[in-house]
Amino acid sequence: MSFEEVMRLAQQKGFFFKTADSYPNSPAGFWDYGPLGVSMKNNFVELWRRMLVKRDGMVEIDGSQILPRAVFEASGHLSSFTDPFVQCSKCGSVFRPDKLIEEKTGRQTPEKLEDVEYDKLMADADVKCLKCGARLAGTKRFNMMFKVEVGAQQEDAYLRPETCQSIFVDFPLLFKTQRVKLPVGFAQVGRSFRNEIAPRQGLIRLRELNQAEVEVFFNPKKTDMAKFGVKATERLTFLKTDGSTTEMAVGDAVKAGVVPNMLIGYYLAMIMELYTAAGIEPTKIRFRMLSEQDRAFYSKAAYDVEVSTSVGWVELVACNYRSDYDLGRHSKVSGTSFTVDDEGEKVLPHVFELSLGVDRSIYVILEASMKTDGDRKVLQVRPYLAPMKLGVFPLVNKDGLPELAEKVFRDASDVVDAYYDDSGSIGRRYARSDEVGTPYCATVDYDSLTSSSVTLRNRDTKAQERVKISELQSRMLELTKFPSIFG
Ligand SMILES: [Zn+2]
Repeated sequence: MSFEEVMRLAQQKGFFFKTADSYPNSPAGFWDYGPLGVSMKNNFVELWRRMLVKRDGMVEIDGSQILPRAVFEASGHLSSFTDPFVQCSKCGSVFRPDKLIEEKTGRQTPEKLEDVEYDKLMADADVKCLKCGARLAGTKRFNMMFKVEVGAQQEDAYLRPETCQSIFVDFPLLFKTQRVKLPVGFAQVGRSFRNEIAPRQGLIRLRELNQAEVEVFFNPKKTDMAKFGVKATERLTFLKTDGSTTEMAVGDAVKAGVVPNMLIGYYLAMIMELYTAAGIEPTKIRFRMLSEQDRAFYSKAAYDVEVSTSVGWVELVACNYRSDYDLGRHSKVSGTSFTVDDEGEKVLPHVFELSLGVDRSIYVILEASMKTDGDRKVLQVRPYLAPMKLGVFPLVNKDGLPELAEKVFRDASDVVDAYYDDSGSIGRRYARSDEVGTPYCATVDYDSLTSSSVTLRNRDTKAQERVKISELQSRMLELTKFPSIFG
C-alpha cells in the first residue's frame, strides 16, 4: 500500500491526524492519535514490553520530560545535538542540505559532515531552492532541543530530546535499589521532543515523538555469557558500509566481525523477533551498519534497523554501542560515582542502546498490514496488535436479538477491546470491521436465542463457526493473546 493510502485510512478512521488542524498556521511535525491509534500504539508498546523488557528481565522506568541544563551539558546535547540547515538567500525557505543532496543524487549523504562539505556537495550536485530555484549555500547549525524556563526565576531546562538521559542519571540509584547485576537492561517508554528543521511524512519525522528505549549496561570484559548464545542461529540481514548486503546467523556475524560480540548480537536478534512478531516480513528488515563517519566519536558500533516501505527504507531503531561515554560524562559533571560492583570488580559499565521509534513503527505496521481482496479492504494486522479485537452484531434489530447481542458485547468487553454495531447490513458491518483490522466478529442470530451460541467470523479466512456464548471470553483470550514471553 502507498503512503497516501495509509494516511487516508489513518485520517478517515481516526488512527492519527494532524494536531490543531483546524488552525491554518499550526506547525508541522505534531500529530494526535485517535481512538484506534491509541489502542494500537498501546498494543505495540505492550508487545515491545513482552518481547524485550520482560523476556530479558529488564527494569522499566518513567522519567520526567523536563530535565535541567546540566544534564544536557554532560550528555553533549547542548553542544552537538544539531542539524545542518541552509536558508535560501532569495526567498528565505529553510532546508536540510543532506536531504536535498540525497534527493538530487539518490546517494545516502552522511549526517555528520562539516558545514563547508555540505556547501561543496550542494554546488557539485547543482542543488537549487525547491521553492524559488535560487542556488543554495551557507550551511549553518541549529540545536534541536526545545528550551523551557522553570519557575519564577526562569532557570534553563530542556524538554528531553531522547528518553535515555534519565536512565543514565538514575542508574546508580536503580542499580543499588533494584538488586540487579550486570548485564542489565533499563527500559523506558515516553515522549521526546526535537525541533526538527523539516518534519514531514506524517509519523515518520516528528517534533514530538514516542520512543521506547533500552539501555543495556554491561561489563565490557563479559560479552560472551551463555545467555547470549541462545540467539546464535537467528538470521539477520546486514547492509554493510560498502553498500553490499549479507544475510547471516548472529553467531557467524560475530565470528566475521560484522557484530563486535555476542551480547550485541543477542539484542539485535531480539529486535528482529519483535518486528517479525509485529507482522513485518523478515525479508523487509535489514540492519544498516553505520560507518565511522556516521557514528558519534564515542560509538564503537552502530546499526540502524530499517524496514522497506513504499517511501523507501525507514529507520525504526537506532542500535548503538555507546561504550562508557554516558556514565563517564555524568559521573564527571555531577561529581557522583557511577561505577558499580560486578562480582568483586569495580566497573564503569558500557552501554548498548536500542532506541526505538514507536510512531514510525505504527506507520510501518499499518502499511505492511493493509491488503485488498477484490473490492474488500482488509487491515491484516496481528490480532494482538489490532485496535479492536471483536465486533458484536445483532443480525436484525428486533425479536430480542439486540438485547442478547448487548449482553455478549458487555461480557466480551471484560476481556478484550470490543465494540457493538447494529447499523446497516451485516456485509457492511463486516466491511467496516475488516478495514480497521478487527480480527473477529460475533453475530447474534435467531439460532442464538435457542442454542446460546454466536457465529464467530475470522477476518482473514472469512470462515465462520458457532461458538457457545459461555465460551466466547476464553476463546477470544486465546485467539488474541500475545506471543509467549519465554517462547
Ligand atoms: Zn528560495
